[in-house]
Amino acid sequence: MNANIAIDGPAGAGKSTIAKQLAAKLGLLYVDTGSMYRALAVFFLRRGLSKEDEKGISGAVAEASVGIRYVDGTQRVFLNGEDVTDSLRNEETGNMASSSSAYPAVRERLLGLQRELAEKNAVVMDGRDIGTVILPDAALKIYLTASVEERTRRRVNELLAKGVPADADQIKHDIEERDQRDMNRAVAPLRRADDAVLVDSSDMSIEEVVDVISALYREKCRK
Ligand code: C5P
Repeated sequence: MNANIAIDGPAGAGKSTIAKQLAAKLGLLYVDTGSMYRALAVFFLRRGLSKEDEKGISGAVAEASVGIRYVDGTQRVFLNGEDVTDSLRNEETGNMASSSSAYPAVRERLLGLQRELAEKNAVVMDGRDIGTVILPDAALKIYLTASVEERTRRRVNELLAKGVPADADQIKHDIEERDQRDMNRAVAPLRRADDAVLVDSSDMSIEEVVDVISALYREKCRK
């Protein structure tokens, strides 16, 4: 059995925070697949493509190459050789990533890279379709979720901590819209794999979630 952990779940459930800590604790490599979709989104935005333009995006994606490198244990994302890591986390890029990731040509472009990383390393990989499509044989699959209200609260606090004004109603609306798109798209929709363990983090601290998943992992890998 491989030693990979797949974590899927909706935006704002805490996947990346939890996955990063798990990787450090268990000695695994953290792979954030959302940032790969975001890197492609940067490419489409720079091309002036609209997020509804499936034909244009599907035609352009072959010219975009995404690469991952680890610098001091942190994942850096490269778009055609340029480090774009610091321009991935804004609403415009997130919205383009959310829309364009529904297009089969876009998903196809990243599938090989994601599988290759998990073949060469023991990974904690987070995303939307990791347990269902990318790593169906992962040693442990987690579906990490939290209520919409709690996910909104976390996002608002995150923005306020950065000194960015936050409109809670708008953020809640965006989260709900993104959930709908991720769960209802035709290709690789967000859903819990049959063999994934459901973890609802609404009333749990980060440490509690990390402890629960570490214990499950150790149990699996001992078998
Ligand atoms: O997780 P993050 O918010 O960075 O992901 C950006 C977007 O990429 C998501 O809204 C989702 O639609 C898409 N995504 C995906 N499959 C993944 C990871 C992310 O479709 N494995």
